[in-house]
Amino acid sequence: MLCEMCGKSVPFTKSVMIDGAKLEVCPECARFGDDYKASSSSQSSGQSTGGSRTVIEQRLERREKRMGTKDVYAQAKTVEVVENYGRTIREAREAKGMDLDAFSKFISEKKGTMAKIEANRLVPDDKLVKKIEKALDIKLLETVSSGAGQSTGGGSSGRMTLGDFIKKK
Ligand SMILES: [Zn+2]
Repeated sequence: MLCEMCGKSVPFTKSVMIDGAKLEVCPECARFGDDYKASSSSQSSGQSTGGSRTVIEQRLERREKRMGTKDVYAQAKTVEVVENYGRTIREAREAKGMDLDAFSKFISEKKGTMAKIEANRLVPDDKLVKKIEKALDIKLLETVSSGAGQSTGGGSSGRMTLGDFIKKK
């Protein structure tokens, strides 16, 4: 028989666990591993090579999966600015009787910036969102459990179609 560790031909091998993999090794190499505790059904020798190989492959696979857990968006709940934030802001602002100029001054932002935001063409950053929410007493954030439907890149965002933009001009 061949030792799976050093490749030496020996009269008999010993099953040991080395780094989580079962190997058939010569008595000399057996020192490096732990005794393999065979599960009751003894379908040992013949399969051993394939067996240990698979264990290693499985371990690698598992490790890869663990590392691939960067995909936070898979299940994570994220807080996002509501889809029609522009209209929400504008309506709240008008309800308070402020024109864009006054409102921009009120929250000390550039009028151009606010105009873009109200046109839904610029998503306000967190800080600005908080400021607007406070100034107008509205909610602009919603918790989204991002799944398939929420992919940012895909199609035009939500119900706003290209047609909507064209009509407005
Ligand atoms: Zn050996």
